[in-house]
Amino acid sequence: MYCVSRDAKDKIEEEAEKELLRQISLSFNDEEELIPAAYRLCENLYTFGKFDLIELWCPNMEQTQIKLIGHSTQNQYFYELEPSETYFQKNEGLPGKVWEKGKQLLWDEKQIKKYFIRKKGALHLGLQAILGIPLTFKDELVGVLLIGTKREPDYLEQHSLVLSRLEKFIGSEINRKRLENDLRNVFDATPEILCVTDFEGRFLKINNAGCALLGYAQEEVLFHSIDEFTLIEDKGKFEQKIKGITKGDSVFTFENRFLAKDEQVIWLSWNCNPALEDGLVYASAKNITDRIKSEISLQASLKSLEDYKFALDQTAIITITDTKGVITSVNDQFCKLSKYSREELIGKTHSIINSKHHPKSFFAELWGTIAKGKVFRGEIKNQAKDGSFYWVDSTIVPFLDENNKPFQYVAIRIDITAKKLANEKIIEILEEKNNILESIGDGFFAVNKDWTVTYWNKKAETILGRNKEDVLGKNIWETHPDVIDSEFYRQYHKAMLTGETINFEENYATLDLWVEVTVYPSENGLSIYFKDISYRKKTDILLLKANERFEKVTQATNDAIWDWNISENTLFWGEGFKTLFGYDVENITPTLDSWIKNIYPSDIERVEKSVYEAIKNKNVSNWLEEYRYKKSDNSFAYVIDKGVIIRDSQGVAVRMVGAMVDFTKLKEQETKLVELNESLKNYAKELERSNEELEQFAFVTSHDLQEPLRMISSFMDQLKRKYADQLDDKALQYIHYATEGAKRMKQIILDLLLYSRANKAFEEKEEVDLNEILSDFKQLRRKLIAEKSATIISRELPHLRTFSAPVTQIFHSLLDNALKYSKENIPLHIEISTIENGTEWEFAIKDNGIGIDNQFFDKIFIIFQRLHNRELYSGTGIGLSIAKRSVEFMGGRIWLNSEVGQGSIFHFTIPKN
Ligand code: ADP
Repeated sequence: MYCVSRDAKDKIEEEAEKELLRQISLSFNDEEELIPAAYRLCENLYTFGKFDLIELWCPNMEQTQIKLIGHSTQNQYFYELEPSETYFQKNEGLPGKVWEKGKQLLWDEKQIKKYFIRKKGALHLGLQAILGIPLTFKDELVGVLLIGTKREPDYLEQHSLVLSRLEKFIGSEINRKRLENDLRNVFDATPEILCVTDFEGRFLKINNAGCALLGYAQEEVLFHSIDEFTLIEDKGKFEQKIKGITKGDSVFTFENRFLAKDEQVIWLSWNCNPALEDGLVYASAKNITDRIKSEISLQASLKSLEDYKFALDQTAIITITDTKGVITSVNDQFCKLSKYSREELIGKTHSIINSKHHPKSFFAELWGTIAKGKVFRGEIKNQAKDGSFYWVDSTIVPFLDENNKPFQYVAIRIDITAKKLANEKIIEILEEKNNILESIGDGFFAVNKDWTVTYWNKKAETILGRNKEDVLGKNIWETHPDVIDSEFYRQYHKAMLTGETINFEENYATLDLWVEVTVYPSENGLSIYFKDISYRKKTDILLLKANERFEKVTQATNDAIWDWNISENTLFWGEGFKTLFGYDVENITPTLDSWIKNIYPSDIERVEKSVYEAIKNKNVSNWLEEYRYKKSDNSFAYVIDKGVIIRDSQGVAVRMVGAMVDFTKLKEQETKLVELNESLKNYAKELERSNEELEQFAFVTSHDLQEPLRMISSFMDQLKRKYADQLDDKALQYIHYATEGAKRMKQIILDLLLYSRANKAFEEKEEVDLNEILSDFKQLRRKLIAEKSATIISRELPHLRTFSAPVTQIFHSLLDNALKYSKENIPLHIEISTIENGTEWEFAIKDNGIGIDNQFFDKIFIIFQRLHNRELYSGTGIGLSIAKRSVEFMGGRIWLNSEVGQGSIFHFTIPKN
């Protein structure tokens, strides 16, 4: 019985075990994922053994932790008590310990209390024993099964055998599930299309990524062929490939374009692995759209690069040099511009086209830049083969090797000769404009629309006293806040607003300046010209005052004042026209014509001509004319008319102010004077004539009278000699008188002759030695000199170039008188002195004689005038007259100083020429 029942029992257990294995196998087959399979496994085990705790733990991929992945659902409360303990490290907790040891561990109640980590749960369940079973696949632990019971530990031991047998079975199932999972994950995670098709190309299986790429759901793709999604141009490629394969071909590839659900074209690169026996093709397709696109754009880029290169070659001048600057390549443009052939250039350096325009430092900087691997940019002047110059805008780009060292330089140049020339022209024009703006006499500045000063010329600096540097680039209202709210401010704003040119005059109070301003608005702002008109303004004010004064003067003076405004042709007459000429000034409006009409007809032409000539000549500011002017009573007054011409800055006469003075009375006096003069002239002529006659007479008489005189003298001599003894004393006395009379008569005649000749030159001028004249005189009068014990002293006398006779006459007359009119009993002393001044010689003959009363100073020079009778001093009274006549004939003067009893000094001059 025991045996039978034992057999029967074994049989039942065997069946139960088989059923368990079948159920487990089903669970793992049915469930795709490991976790639901694990839960079903736990349920299967519960069904099998009614265990109170069933758990499956699996190590993670990295083998760092062991994780609870399934448990039986009967003991839910256990997990609510122990929610967090779902991971253990190796050797931690029962799962960790079984993982570590790799063998079954059975913990009884005591051990559970001591080691089991989830004690609370275990206590709640009242677990008496827990068995940890390692699950392995090919000796590798793939999981740990925990089985717990409230019953005695024996209960577990009873099942331990069965459970041991499950170790490998469940282990391999877990492993299989894991592999499947991995595969599926790989299948689904691959970003490319992974699929299985039949030989017609129908999709039997396709991964999610593949569907997502095409934008279709699985069911829209499955059992549809590749060609259905393929662009028409690429259809049939798969079929063609399949047909082409023969035994032994393991893989084939092709590319085609899919049309995704959103109509986008997707480039695919297929890699196909056909399984001939199964009639299946395992295929993967990579999305190469981006690569194709970038290839296309690369192609396009390459094409445009080609085009750029071509275009650059057409327009730019390109050379390539090595690191030493030796030209290795040139394009046609370079040859064309430099006029060198390619052969002439290759192998040379750029010094071949050096124009010597740039300093050495320029090229040193160029090389310094590019040798450092940096791009150089600059404008260079070169010289072509024919000697002409050209300018290029150069960009030199160093090409760098892997060590960032330049291995060649590419120079790209643009011909900017025309631009340079244009620039030079522009600079020239700008300079010229600047020069003009700097040299104009006006102040000039410009502001832009924001009132920023953009120009400020030299004159503006001087007039406004502000340097260019202080104002350029600054806001005009900030640099000149004093102008805000002034007339300037208003006018500038008006011009800016209206765009109209404005001209105004205004006082700039800060500098007490009057300025005339012209504002020209332009697109960019304002151009402002101004000039200092302070002088003019002040003159205007002065003029105003002067006008006032002028009016006062016209009232005060007797002269006829007039004011002719030439530009307006109006004439003003002062009060004088009434007082002098009798015109009703208040009721007459004088005009230039009425002035001219009043001029005496024969004076009109002269006066009119002179006034217009004076106005026309810019250098003339005064006018003066004498003429006859008609008074209101139709009589004519002689007037002197004086005018001052006022001109504008161009010199044009704008006004003339003047005054007429009536000099009729003077004129009358003058006329009388002229008449008097005329009669005087006649009288002088008469005198001259009678003088001449007198001279003639004297000359004649001197000769003719001498003859009878000589007769009287000689007959008197005869009478005395022959009849002296017959005549009484009285008769002899008479004879003596007659002889003396004849002698005197002769002397008078001789003197008269001398006198008559004293104002005429009978010989040429000659060298006259006055010393000689003096010594001749001394010799001639030596007897008289001795008698009078006279001394005549003089210093060395000059030699004169003059007429000898009159000079001798003067000296003789004056010395004779000095000898004659001496005092008795004192020795006579005569002194001759000479003074030479610029134009004449002055002589003085001084004596210590009887002297002359000053009332006779004039009288003694008159002919025949004598101060003494003949008895006292002999003489004819002609000597001094001759001296005076002779002195005056030579253009000199004669005068004297004398005192009675003190002696006399006779002075006379002889002009040098
Ligand atoms: P005369 O000597 O023949 O009288 P003069 O014409 O020489 O005529 O002189 C005029 C007069 O001037 C003289 O009569 C004399 O009275 C006076 N007189 C001239 N010279 C002198 C002199 N040196 N001293 C004083 N009286 C003089």
